[in-house]
Amino acid sequence: MSKRIALIAHDNMKPTIVQWCLDNKEILSHHFLCGTGTTASKISSATGLPVKAYLSGPLGGDQQIGSLVAVGEIDVIIFFSDPLTAMPHDPDVKALLRIAQVYDVPMASNKATADCILHSLEEF
Ligand code: PGA
Repeated sequence: MSKRIALIAHDNMKPTIVQWCLDNKEILSHHFLCGTGTTASKISSATGLPVKAYLSGPLGGDQQIGSLVAVGEIDVIIFFSDPLTAMPHDPDVKALLRIAQVYDVPMASNKATADCILHSLEEF
């Protein structure tokens, strides 16, 4: 069954999420994809997959995705955050993590977890 997947990556992690999407293009093509502005556009140009773009993360994109989680419109979040760089929008990142916990939405913060979620999409 088709899932609504939100894709987000901090700048240093964008090559990683783009490569992950290329590696998993076939599976991802069966799902509805969206993401924060820059991440969405980079994935879309690299893979050719449609990715609905929200605002850029630092300008409120993480919060937009959080609001979709709260109203039940996101099934999975793939968020490759940068563990080595301080972010001005760190509170938004924490808020997204919290709202994903509240609504029990699976959220991957690295490739290993993203692989596990993607390969078990049929189960939830
Ligand atoms: P971006 O936002 O995809 O617009 O770069 C990601 C983020 O920093 O949260």
